[in-house]
Order: sequence, then C-alpha cells, then structure tokens
Amino acid sequence: MSVKQYLCGPCLVDKGEIVGVVYCRECEEPLCGHCKQDHARIKVSKHHKLVDFADVPPKEIHEFLKNLIACPNHEKQEVVSLCKDHDMSCCNKCAMADHRKCEEVKVLSDMVHDIKVDCTGLKTVLHDLQQQSESLLEHERKHEELVYEMKSKVVSSLQTVKQKLLNMYTQLENEVLSSIADKKKVIGEKIKTNNEQSRQFLNHIKQQLAFIENVEQFGTNEHVLLLKRKIEKESVCRLKSTVDE
Ligand SMILES: [Zn+2]
Ligand SMILES: [Zn+2]
Ligand SMILES: [Zn+2]
Ligand SMILES: [Zn+2]
Repeated sequence: MSVKQYLCGPCLVDKGEIVGVVYCRECEEPLCGHCKQDHARIKVSKHHKLVDFADVPPKEIHEFLKNLIACPNHEKQEVVSLCKDHDMSCCNKCAMADHRKCEEVKVLSDMVHDIKVDCTGLKTVLHDLQQQSESLLEHERKHEELVYEMKSKVVSSLQTVKQKLLNMYTQLENEVLSSIADKKKVIGEKIKTNNEQSRQFLNHIKQQLAFIENVEQFGTNEHVLLLKRKIEKESVCRLKSTVDE
C-alpha cells in the first residue's frame, strides 16, 4: 500500500494530508484520530468496522474480493444466494425479479453457516495440473536442448570434413609445387650445359677466324691455301654437325 493510501480520507477533502491511524472497512478509507472519534459519534458510521492497516488487504485483492461478491446483473448489489435451477449467483434484486418461482434457491450465509469451505480437493487438482504443465515445459526445454545439440554436432562434423578437404588440398599443392621445382632444376641444368657448349663453339669459331686473319696478314698464299684446306677438312664439318645437334 502506498503512503497516499494511509492519509485520512475525510481530511483529504477539506483539511489536507493528515496521516490515518485506522482503516474503515465500510468507507474503504483511512481515518485520522480526530475523524475516528467523529466516526464513533455519528449515528450512520457508529457501527462501521475499524481495523488496523495490517488487516487491510492489498488494493488488488480488495478489488478482487469486491468483484467476486458483486452481482453480475446489478453492479452495486452483493450476491446473497445461489439458484441451483438456473446455476446462477444472485443478489436480492435478482432473487425477487427472476427466481421467485425457482425450487432451489440457497442463501449463501446459510450454506456456509458453521462450516469452513474446504478447497483441499480443488487445490490438489490445481497442483496436479501445475505439475503437468511444468513437466510439459521441462519436456519442451529438453527438446529444444536436443535440437540445439543436434545443430552443434552437424556443425562440428562439417568442420571436420572441411579440415580434411583443406589438408588434402595442401598436400596436393605441395606435391605439384615440388614436382615443378624438380623439373625446373633439371631444365636449369640442361640450359647451363647448352650455354657452356654454345660458348665453347663460339670461341672455336672466333679462333678459326683469328687464324685466317693472321695467316692472311703474315703468311704466304700457300699458307692461306693450306689453312683453308685444314679448316674445311677438320673444323667446318665438325662445327656444322654441332650446330645441327
Ligand atoms: Zn481526518
Ligand atoms: Zn466508515
Ligand atoms: Zn442482482
Ligand atoms: Zn432461478
């Protein structure tokens, strides 16, 4: 209950905010010490039931109780009887207007007279239903968990497959690259050998040309003839066959 609800109701109208000391059930408001005295003095409120704030139900419970006993047809009337013929609760107005000829109209205060209404059976039924709905919730929770687990299992096996494929790819890549490296090495050596041979061949030709130069300059015509014959016989054939190779 909020602080506002403890303020004296009658005083709030004309005097202002004064803290209440008791609660009047009939007026449904707190009363200050002064108003409490007035209440006891005035004839109409003399018999009002004044209670401690601790005995005042919370607002929503109070409303609930009020609605529970209110007549479904007459908002301001309280239900006083049950008509078994119509299976209806009714106030005095209803009883007079609609149920005068009904055979079984029971007055509530007679029905509960001297007995405490027992809700044990109903409570048991409700508790059973509560348990059932809780176990349904639990079942669904487990179901959800299972679905979640299934998903993570699938994800993990997909990852395993992915890893295997990646490993296979890496292996393939390594094999291809190392085979290319081997071929490159072989070809490189071959090129080196060929270059060496070409260089030797070139040197040899240059040497022959130099011989011709020198013999033409320093030798006689006979020298030139002999050299020409020698080069043609020994070298040209060999050089030609080397080039062909
Ligand atoms: Zn007051
Ligand atoms: Zn009152
Ligand atoms: Zn009524
Ligand atoms: Zn009736």
